[in-house]
Amino acid sequence: MECENFSSLIRLLRITAWVQRFIKKLKKDTISGPLTAKEIEDAKFMWIVHIQRKHFAKEIHDITKNKSSNIIRQLGLTIDNNGLIRCVGRIEHADISENAKRPILLPKKEAFTKLLIYSYHRNLLHVGVAQTLSQIRQKYWIPQGRSTVRHVLRTCGNCIRYEGGPYKMPLIPPLPKNRVTESSPYTYTGIDYFGPLYVKTVNGSEKVFWKVWRDDYLLSIRERTTVKLKEKRVRSNQYPQIGDIVLIKDNLPRGMWKIGKIINLSKSSDEQCRSAKVLLPSKKTLNRTLNFLYPLECHDDNVEQTDNVNNVEQNSKCETQTSSTRPQRRAATQAKQKIHEWTS
Ligand SMILES: [Zn+2]
Repeated sequence: MECENFSSLIRLLRITAWVQRFIKKLKKDTISGPLTAKEIEDAKFMWIVHIQRKHFAKEIHDITKNKSSNIIRQLGLTIDNNGLIRCVGRIEHADISENAKRPILLPKKEAFTKLLIYSYHRNLLHVGVAQTLSQIRQKYWIPQGRSTVRHVLRTCGNCIRYEGGPYKMPLIPPLPKNRVTESSPYTYTGIDYFGPLYVKTVNGSEKVFWKVWRDDYLLSIRERTTVKLKEKRVRSNQYPQIGDIVLIKDNLPRGMWKIGKIINLSKSSDEQCRSAKVLLPSKKTLNRTLNFLYPLECHDDNVEQTDNVNNVEQNSKCETQTSSTRPQRRAATQAKQKIHEWTS
């Protein structure tokens, strides 16, 4: 059984408890009825022992041989009567509960730990990193706990729905060519309401005008006065991809914003993506700039891009994909492999 295949801790523990009961029944145990709290607790104990043995085999060996290492000294590791590794540390004499004094050590890079963090976060009604961590520390100790909890909370669907930021916008682009080149009046705009207007050209004054425009105005607008668009909320570090499910910002309370799917990414003249075409559930499409689109899903960290160059490459790849293709489910892939193994 793999923790990665479970979406919640309680589901994992219940299924483990049912499997344990099945094994007991094979050994002629006559237990029946719904699962008891003790069975769930036993399942949790079994998982913790398993992951501690998997990740801290060297530490367990060192403690039993009375050897010392950096982590053993730092956390004051001991093994209790049940075979669990606990951190005694320096607060043994504090007036707190026994569990908080001697928390159980959990590895940070483990799916079980992530499920546990998420269950605390959900039971505490989606509180922030500090509150989740302080509750976890009543019973467990996770090395580099704050960053581990933060990482897990970033993937919480509910929190993203109500607090996530929009996509990151690239830098404001250079001014378009028609705004920085000399041209006669009404080259790019026209008024047809008043009938044709004839512009009198006086060569001498026009030359002076363009010289002043070039020297005093054009050179003064070189700087970007605003590098980024102002946005109060924290921006998402994700880059948009075709198929992303997004919330579309509107002049309404956040709970009433529409949900859509990105079906196309448009590039500006500088090859950066600043807007996207979004398909609504009603089959209508909307064009919105990225700062109006709030991603609802988290990509894998490996897919996240930190470089604008990579971003462009990523976007160009995305555009070649058709919106109808979707990644195959893992269960479907595994089933296909098994069928292939059986038939070959
Ligand atoms: Zn949450």
